[in-house]
Amino acid sequence: AQERYASIRDLPATTKCGTTISLQMNAGLIADLPSLEGSGAEGVGLFRTELQFLVRNKMPRRAELSALYSRVVKSANGKRVAFRTLDIGSDKVLPYMKPNDEPNPAMGWRAIRVGLDKPGVLRMQLQALLRAADGGPLAVMFPFITQLEEFRAAKAEMDKAIAREKILGHSLPSSLEVGAMLETPSLGFAPDVFFEEVDFISIGGNDLKQFFFAADRENERVRKRYDTLNVSFLSFISQVIDRCNASNTALSFCGEDAGRPVEALCFAALGLRTLSMRPASVGPVKHLLRRVDLGEVKAVMDEAIARGDQSVRRAVADWLVYQV
Ligand code: PEP
Ligand code: MG
Repeated sequence: AQERYASIRDLPATTKCGTTISLQMNAGLIADLPSLEGSGAEGVGLFRTELQFLVRNKMPRRAELSALYSRVVKSANGKRVAFRTLDIGSDKVLPYMKPNDEPNPAMGWRAIRVGLDKPGVLRMQLQALLRAADGGPLAVMFPFITQLEEFRAAKAEMDKAIAREKILGHSLPSSLEVGAMLETPSLGFAPDVFFEEVDFISIGGNDLKQFFFAADRENERVRKRYDTLNVSFLSFISQVIDRCNASNTALSFCGEDAGRPVEALCFAALGLRTLSMRPASVGPVKHLLRRVDLGEVKAVMDEAIARGDQSVRRAVADWLVYQV
């Protein structure tokens, strides 16, 4: 598939109306990094650090983690990597940690909740990331932030890690971005000060959708009933875009939907400027974006919304048939 899009690999995803969308890729293992070159992605918008924890049979040590992250940074060859701290619990269970017996793990003790309640692993990870940056830039984001105080507490862990590195005389990153993943509706309604304090936000659409529609992402039977292009969901995304624009906060979308062509088009038409997806989707999404006028896509969406359609998918897909 990547060969098919090789001719546009080094070209920007600039639409007919002149808007450039940054296409990034999702990764989780060192083995994913060569795709950064191959796909033409501009960076790693989501590096899922739990994969490196999931593939081993005991808790890694800080030196091992730091060596791993350092290889990721080096393989990225100057492109930005947004490292997401450990997101365990829910569908991701570490074989060497005591399993949690809870009835609703997706809404249970997972991700940053574990990181804040038992901060040992989070601290080790932050330290490892600071060292791996080796005096270069670093971007870190916390998973499953649902309210301002959680972000502040997680950020305080980063501040502590930095203070420790300073005392030890280690070099600090040349620039540091600390972000949050928006994966529950609540964060979209956080006070303005959250949007001012956070360096960047990445919408984790896989989780966000399951909580927005109360439909388990692992359960096909209920998941398939709800369309990402549902007008309620788009209206929520739109509000998040507006709030980020108002506070000048960088925003991206890194759930699976970012790599689906019609979805990517609609997100771009709504105002999203950074999309992170699996590497194989970068080519097809870019190909499509380069052929459309986002103003026209937006007009088609607005018409469908005004008509009372439940989803804009049909309208946009029908329109698209005559465009590309
Ligand atoms: C998401 O929830 O959309 C996301 C990107 O994170 P994960 O799929 O790893 O939960
Ligand atoms: Mg998620």
